Amino acid sequence: LSQGNESSRDYVLGVDVGGTNIHIGKANRDCVPLKVKRYATDARNQEALIAGIMGSMERYLAEAGPPAPRAVGMGLVGHVSVAEGVWENAINISVTRPVPLCATIRAKFGLPAYIDNDVNMAALAEMTFGAGKSHADFAYINIGTGISAGLVSNGKIVTGASNYAGELGHMVCDGEEHVCKCGRKGCLEPLASGGGMIEMAKKAVQSARDSSLARYVQDGSLHAGTIFREAEKGDPIAGSIAEKAMSALENAVVNLVNLMNPSLVVFGGGAIEKDFILNRLTDFVYQNALPVAAKGLQGIRISALDPSLVGLIGASRAAWDGLGMT
Ligand SMILES: [Zn+2]
Repeated sequence: LSQGNESSRDYVLGVDVGGTNIHIGKANRDCVPLKVKRYATDARNQEALIAGIMGSMERYLAEAGPPAPRAVGMGLVGHVSVAEGVWENAINISVTRPVPLCATIRAKFGLPAYIDNDVNMAALAEMTFGAGKSHADFAYINIGTGISAGLVSNGKIVTGASNYAGELGHMVCDGEEHVCKCGRKGCLEPLASGGGMIEMAKKAVQSARDSSLARYVQDGSLHAGTIFREAEKGDPIAGSIAEKAMSALENAVVNLVNLMNPSLVVFGGGAIEKDFILNRLTDFVYQNALPVAAKGLQGIRISALDPSLVGLIGASRAAWDGLGMT
């Protein structure tokens, strides 16, 4: 092979599969996403979902033309077995039976594929470009519909025995009688995730129709950000939900900092967008974490990466890592 051919094939395909959209893009060795395209996720059932992912990749590659990429990296929601290349299950998109995704991609496209969950991909993106670049030990906490964390220790993602480490959303951090989907009471996720806060607001406005949240519940436009904004304006229902969320999150981050001794905590997912939330959280963590853990923590930040590209960057990095080319 000539040098020119070699370098022209020097890209991988990054695929980020979300509940609503599939983002696909090329990425060079530096994991810079190029020619990103968006396709709709067909989440009617498992067959449609997998066919939709394969079809989107086929369309993308047909439009891109030769040469073929070296590999595919793919970020997915739910539980992923990295070594086996299997998408085990997902709750928000219906994956109820394990999908041998890497084998399917290899059979259809003749390409090696590397898959992982979306939060580990985001942590990889932070390792590549973000705040995690200068930190070998950090936690990336994603707060969206749910809450989970990508943990990086000694420059490596903490996988656990089943690639299931980082389920921060199911850490109990409040004693109240609030039953989580997992069956325990007082989990972080139903209290402080976007999805959890919206559920609490829906329940609360049933008996408090004069709350300013009622109209947002009615027209379906309620977001965690709205709850924080209305809390700031003085709505008591919003205030109570925001306070519960903040308090639970503060305790969860202290627990995490004590447990893993990171030098940095990064938030992604868009739920924490206001300075006062971050400032209050930061004060609480420094005051309440164990002294040595607090001293080792250099900061708590909001991710500076483009939320629409973070999954693609991580997936591309996973592909290069998988090829042993990083
Ligand atoms: Zn739980």
